[in-house]
Amino acid sequence: MAHKVTLIPGDGIGPEIILAAKRCVAATGVKIDWEEVVAGSDALATTGELLPQAVLDSVKKNKVALKGPIITPIGEGFRSVNVAIRQALDLYACVRPAKTYPGVKSNYKDIDLVIVRENSEDLYAGIEFEEGLDETKALIKEIENLSKKNIRSDSGISIKPISKFASKRIVKFAFEYALKHNRKKVTIVHKANIMKFTDGLFLRAGREVAQEYAGRVNFEEAIVDNMCMQLVSKPHNYDVLVLPNLYGDILSDLCAGLIGGLGIAPGANIGDGLAVFEAVHGSAPKYKGLNKVNPTAMILSAALMLDYLNEKKAALALEDAVKAVISEGTNLTYDFKANPKDPLAVGTQEMADAIIKKLNQS
Ligand code: NAD
Repeated sequence: MAHKVTLIPGDGIGPEIILAAKRCVAATGVKIDWEEVVAGSDALATTGELLPQAVLDSVKKNKVALKGPIITPIGEGFRSVNVAIRQALDLYACVRPAKTYPGVKSNYKDIDLVIVRENSEDLYAGIEFEEGLDETKALIKEIENLSKKNIRSDSGISIKPISKFASKRIVKFAFEYALKHNRKKVTIVHKANIMKFTDGLFLRAGREVAQEYAGRVNFEEAIVDNMCMQLVSKPHNYDVLVLPNLYGDILSDLCAGLIGGLGIAPGANIGDGLAVFEAVHGSAPKYKGLNKVNPTAMILSAALMLDYLNEKKAALALEDAVKAVISEGTNLTYDFKANPKDPLAVGTQEMADAIIKKLNQS
């Protein structure tokens, strides 16, 4: 029987990489009945809304979605559609594997890490107060009274809520993920030395959860700044990393850099019984419609989706086909090349064709 899956093509380069991923999934032989819904700039043009309720309803109904990236204009009081989807569906765990494949342009070899980023709170909760507004000035006065500290009157304020509930939930998710995927260690990343009541709470909740897994999965703690240094100097020392939202976002890109760039970093946003699969990268608007960008991150996100749908054999076959094409080194997009202007670089759909050919041979 076919799996019913919501398809959100997104905008910018979204539709072209989604097409490549969809074609690769079809080549695995797994039957998917795609329900396509539109969010982002196309939805705004046709429905007047960036995130129509129909998109959320479709994911709730089908339980699984494959999503292309969606543009977020900076600093226009516009909440990211990507963040809004995660929050509306309570997709609280963002899982981003970072693996080096032989043949990628990277200073590192044999990296195999997984970032588990808390997706529902922290500075991404969207509680912000704009500089100069009366309510912001009133809030500043209130905080000064409560904290006995001065805040410059021309400040903007962002609130960082971190709860015990969400912290325990994400650390538990990281440990369960480690057990399920035969991982040996979970490292909790924080800045509890400075933010004692937010990151400190995250860390204490993590320690409590870790006790339940003692003897089954190792546990260690790292301060986020040191973690950045450790990751670029000794990435092989790490396995599963669990982080609050903002550090998770930043370290995901750092890990994408370790494995050869954003073009090959896949991801998943997972909640209780719901999952949306998407690449780490954004909509790279300058490449829109050029059939130029790397489809690998989206295709590997689709492989994670197949694994989630319990189509383990197809998921592995798809990952192996990607690996084989990368290691052959011929049918690769510009970003894999030493010189990005290399005339031998192929387009998005041509790289997908090569992956499909490998699947057909397997
Ligand atoms: P981006 O990830 O879109 O692109 C940054 C650069 O990375 C690109 O210019 C390109 O050089 C490279 N790149 C990205 N994807 C690539 C691919 N598949 N192949 C080859 N190279 C690739 O980041 P940005 O420019 O900061 O963001 C563009 C827009 O995307 C913004 O509006 C941002 O908010 C949004 N965004 C969306 C998501 C999402 O949908 N989940 C995630 C991140 C950013």
